[in-house]
Amino acid sequence: MNSEQFRKYGHEMVDWMADYLENIREYPVRSQAKPGEIFKQLPDAPPAQGEPYEQIFADFQQIILPGMTHWQSPNFFAYFPANGSYPSLLAEMLTASMGAQCMIWETSPAAAELEEKCMNWLRDMCGLPASWTGVIQDTASTATLTALLSARERASNFGVNRKGFSGQEKYRIYCSSETHSSIEKGVKIAGMGAENLVRIPVDEKLAMRADALQAAIEADLAAGFFPLAVVASLGTTSTTAMDPLAEIGPICAAHNIWLHVDAAYAGTAFLLPEQRHWLRGIEAADSYVFNPHKWMFTHFDCSAYFVRDPDLLVNTFSILPEYLKTGTLGQVNDYRDWGIPLGRRFRALKLWFVIRSYGVEALQARLREHIAIAEELEGWIEDHPDFELMAPRSLNLVCFRCVARHSEVPHKADLDAFNASLMKRLNDSGKLYLTHTKIGGKYAIRMVTANTRLTREDVVEAWKRICETAEEDERIKEN
Ligand SMILES: *Cc1c(COP(=O)(O)O)cnc(C)c1O
Repeated sequence: MNSEQFRKYGHEMVDWMADYLENIREYPVRSQAKPGEIFKQLPDAPPAQGEPYEQIFADFQQIILPGMTHWQSPNFFAYFPANGSYPSLLAEMLTASMGAQCMIWETSPAAAELEEKCMNWLRDMCGLPASWTGVIQDTASTATLTALLSARERASNFGVNRKGFSGQEKYRIYCSSETHSSIEKGVKIAGMGAENLVRIPVDEKLAMRADALQAAIEADLAAGFFPLAVVASLGTTSTTAMDPLAEIGPICAAHNIWLHVDAAYAGTAFLLPEQRHWLRGIEAADSYVFNPHKWMFTHFDCSAYFVRDPDLLVNTFSILPEYLKTGTLGQVNDYRDWGIPLGRRFRALKLWFVIRSYGVEALQARLREHIAIAEELEGWIEDHPDFELMAPRSLNLVCFRCVARHSEVPHKADLDAFNASLMKRLNDSGKLYLTHTKIGGKYAIRMVTANTRLTREDVVEAWKRICETAEEDERIKEN
């Protein structure tokens, strides 16, 4: 492809992109593809000769697009969102155009310095401690692994890095029974062993019980274990439960335990001063992660990781082979030493475009709107005799189920199956996309109102469809 063609196809493509996003409600939100359906349409061997762009793009539309789930659709209420926005998309185009690999300052000073500035902005925008330092990681999973490795190296005086595990370490890591699976993954990768991840029971709000944490740590100390780290969640994936930092922090401080806070989704809410009560006690944390790529209108991937002690972070990861030595060492941030991979994408640019293009106040207004919509939805569920709420709502995730009042499903197991089939029917319709969780062993449908393009009208429509489908299902079950 030459420059002339690139220019032509590029202009056409921007029009396609705008049309796609404008008309995104018309696509079935969850792909309706069957397993293997895409694979079998693709040739077994790659082309020996180049193919015309027109053909490639036609195949993209005919083969690939039907196999895509449309995450940018306002009918996407599943998981947590991976929001984009126009300014973020434009920045990603620029990033791809420059194709820079920003591993060290010298390989693109602007990438390093913009990242430093944007992380300071984000920290201050969210009311996080002013002394913290931030760095962009690809995902929260990576950030949490980074935290666990830093905790390990602090505790072992960099001994595991130097000599490997001696076999004497009996590290224990604590999280709640509701914590995201990435914590267990991180514990396994960091070499601590999944059996040493202690799951602390939760209270009726599904938040970690600090008294149970205290008891578990004391029992482990008595048994000769080394309590290494606590991972507290602000906004669990299941229900956005918030662990009580103000109670957990002092327990960690008393035993010199690393406190990592996983606010992957909910962290964006702290742009709102009225939501910062959840952050009470945050000063005690050693590290903290939240994902602008979830709710902050910034394309995946962009995970903001903050630490109290950046030297400790750098000392955990630093390497300096001859070929990476530069004349600016010590004067600038070489982010290759601030995490796991050497190579780094220029992720700060999209964040900068988003923050500048929206402005803090418009971001806040949009988040407030999302939370207000969830509150309204919660009210509709509460008022509906056929439905019940399954967990307290802290932000804009509502968990509920249909109680199938009119049909003969008296047993709990039946109600689980009823709701699973209700959700499947809704998702198969292509009109909306929901996912589920288990709360206290019961099947619950999750609905997140956080999409970039979401309007109140979308949620009114979705709720109507949920009610109608549930009614139909009840009638089918009756007959
Ligand atoms: C989404 C989520 C994660 C994982 O995020 P990635 O960036 O995909 O690794 C971790 N913790 C919580 C609470 C989450 O909601």
